[in-house]
This record gives sequence, C-alpha cells and structure tokens, in this order.
Amino acid sequence: MERISTRLLDELGRIALPSVSREAFGWEPGAPLDIFEDAANQQVVLRQAAPRCVFCKSGTGLRLFGGKHVCAQCLRAIRES
Ligand SMILES: [Zn+2]
Repeated sequence: MERISTRLLDELGRIALPSVSREAFGWEPGAPLDIFEDAANQQVVLRQAAPRCVFCKSGTGLRLFGGKHVCAQCLRAIRES
C-alpha cells in the first residue's frame, strides 16, 4: 500500500479523495464505495462497491432493469405482483 497524500478530516469527519486516486480508479461523483475497517492496523480501506439489487441488496443473479440492478428473485416477485 502506497501513501498518496495526507488530508485533514473536516468538522463532519469528511475528507476529499485526491484526484489522482479518483482518476486512477475511475470514481466519479456518486460512485458507490464500500468502506472496510481494519481496527488492528488502524486502517480504513475503500473499494468500489459491487452491484447490488436495488430492492433486497443481494449481489447474485443480477440483471439490469431500467438502468438499475435487480436480482432474479425480485424480478420474479415483480412479475407475479
Ligand atoms: Zn433483489
């Protein structure tokens, strides 16, 4: 792991990610990111969130429906309603 820069938390606990990092990973404003905590090593790790069903948050059996990810089970429930 490489240190890119040092940033100060603002009064609400926020930081701005360095543009070099956002560009390297293709993270645009609004990109969903998962936040992982490694308390033993006092680290926080960000990772682009895997797509999830907009209804049940499942990550399996996803299909795009109207630009949103929906799992097969929720699609079936919608069709049957
Ligand atoms: Zn679902």
